[in-house]
Amino acid sequence: MNRISAAGAPSATVSDRCRCLVVLGSTGSIGVNALDVVRRLNRAGSGFRVAGLSARSNIERLKAQILEFRPSHTAVGDPAAAAALGRWARSRRILLRIGAGVEGLETLASLPRARLVLSALVGAVGLRPLLAAVRAGKKIALANKEALIVAGDLVMDAARRHRAEILPVDSEHSAIFQCLNGVGPRDVRRIVLTASGGAFYRRRGSLDTVSPEEALAHPTWKMGKKITVDCATLTNKGLEAIEAHHLFGVPLDRIDIVIHPQSIVHSLVEFHDGAVLAQLSHPDMRLPIQYALTHPDRRPTPLKSLRLEDIERLDFQKPDFRRFPCLSLALRAGARGKTFPAVFNGANEAAVLAFLDGRISFTAIPRLCADVVGAHRAGPAPSGEGAALSAILNADVWARDRARDWIEKETS
Ligand code: MG
Repeated sequence: MNRISAAGAPSATVSDRCRCLVVLGSTGSIGVNALDVVRRLNRAGSGFRVAGLSARSNIERLKAQILEFRPSHTAVGDPAAAAALGRWARSRRILLRIGAGVEGLETLASLPRARLVLSALVGAVGLRPLLAAVRAGKKIALANKEALIVAGDLVMDAARRHRAEILPVDSEHSAIFQCLNGVGPRDVRRIVLTASGGAFYRRRGSLDTVSPEEALAHPTWKMGKKITVDCATLTNKGLEAIEAHHLFGVPLDRIDIVIHPQSIVHSLVEFHDGAVLAQLSHPDMRLPIQYALTHPDRRPTPLKSLRLEDIERLDFQKPDFRRFPCLSLALRAGARGKTFPAVFNGANEAAVLAFLDGRISFTAIPRLCADVVGAHRAGPAPSGEGAALSAILNADVWARDRARDWIEKETS
């Protein structure tokens, strides 16, 4: 909360002054939006400092971000890119520690002087950096849902032990977090996740020949490619149910999904007394990102005011599980637990990449996922964090290998 100083100007609170932030995946859609939030908050005197930024391959955008935010540390996809970035930094007399690969991300995630880590990585590759941030007891703004999908129990157990705080950035989970406002799972009858339905929900006829460009034309949200395809298959909503289960401790069978094409109601919580709370706003990721960064404070955003009389109608309907089989596949993998969510997620990541590359059809995505998950046999639950993590990472590799074989067979 801003205090008004004697001169009438807002003065920063103590918590504002020590807001030192790392952004993992700063050149993607969430990362760029997050830095926009930081830029705007700082103009209003919030005092965020960016200690670390990372990019897998968009080095030109990363350089522009380095010049603007002057982090002390960065990480890039591989050692060759790190060496090239090092030469660039030296030529401009910029002092910068540069790491590469997952190890570079782990170093960033556990930087001693950062209090806040925003993970906007895409895919299960974010798991080890997330665990590094958790073990360092950070406050984590989590947009990288796949890391929680594949290893939710492990991550949440470690977060409790290391007193790390995980705040959701996903818009639905931010909505639920705001509705719960500290109330525990025992008082919750049901969580209702809303889904826009993605690019094809209203489309009639076969989805066999739809193109990546069509799948990427999301009706309400502007996001990265992987998640936009996941929205079109409804995989995203299945993953989000698993994510909500881990974040809020509510069993999966008490998490419902409803299609809401306008993306105005971002999710709802029904309590045991029958009261239902929802969070509404125009769809704009800068709101949930900002709330994760400033929580428990609320700050102004550029979002226009929500006028229900202008929107006129809000529609809700049951999801079509038959036309979008990925939704059931994801939910079933979540319910089976163990290494099944990691296998489903690994298969889906491989399938989405192959679809975006034009190698398989849109309807091959659920077929591939079903075949890979169907072939998986989970071993007995390993004891200890190290063994559990190995089992998950092995299952992820196994699923991607299987998916690669499947794609080769399909395209040969
Ligand atoms: Mg979401």
